[in-house]
Amino acid sequence: MEKLTLVKIGGAILDDEVRLGSFLKLFAQLEGKKILVHGGGKTATKLSEKIGLNPEMVKGRRITDAEMLKVVTMVYAGLTNKTVIARLQGFKVNALGLTGADGNVLIAEKRPVTDIDFGYVGDITEANVNTDFLKGLLDQEITPVFSAITHDGSGQLFNTNADTIAATLAVAMTRYFEAELVYCFEMKGVLKDVKDQNSVISVLNEANFNSFVAQKLIAEGMIPKITNALEAVKKGVSRVIIKSAEDLPDDSAGTIIIK
Ligand code: ADP
Repeated sequence: MEKLTLVKIGGAILDDEVRLGSFLKLFAQLEGKKILVHGGGKTATKLSEKIGLNPEMVKGRRITDAEMLKVVTMVYAGLTNKTVIARLQGFKVNALGLTGADGNVLIAEKRPVTDIDFGYVGDITEANVNTDFLKGLLDQEITPVFSAITHDGSGQLFNTNADTIAATLAVAMTRYFEAELVYCFEMKGVLKDVKDQNSVISVLNEANFNSFVAQKLIAEGMIPKITNALEAVKKGVSRVIIKSAEDLPDDSAGTIIIK
């Protein structure tokens, strides 16, 4: 099977013009078919503060209310996505910006209300990826670039976690490709000590992940990222790596996630 590389780029890199440029240059040099998924960064939060929105929090969790959904759509699917696309075009990559709504490529369902109603947050599964549409784009030498906005197929947009989008696309595309998933961010990998870039955990599986979480060594945004990574490996993605954006071409860098 032909190889497909799915790369997710994190918020801190997006917020840094210089590092974003170096990353996109490396991404442009990746050989073969590829898909990029980008996260949010701080622009949406900054803009919402400027226009006087107060981030709605319930039990310490951020809620996407109707006003915030407008802001994240304008920023992620608009400015952020088009900036990335234009810069990739500058590196001669024929990139095409997508939300889940474009080409009906990714349908989400509103996250069920339990003790928290997250608002306009959509959950996705690999069954709801339009893999034929994506394959068609890739066959035309087009590089899809996803922002973390999806839709429900009935007119409603949603905010969806970018790490989950990358993992879900990777799993869905195993139908046609040998899929590799690479999570790029500002750290050298998953670290044993967040303050020490030399403490990269080179191999993670479910058992040592759970023990690192129990010891509180792995925390915050890293937990859902690794949960998504483990899920992807279980569902047939050939290789899943968490590494620094600047190490994209280095096959031995970062943390490899195994079953
Ligand atoms: P992204 O950069 O992809 O948008 P997040 O910000 O959600 O992702 O998650 C990455 C963050 O997780 C890192 O910036 C870091 O602060 C935090 N983190 C927590 N524990 C660890 C760990 N053990 N190793 C690396 N990063 C960690």
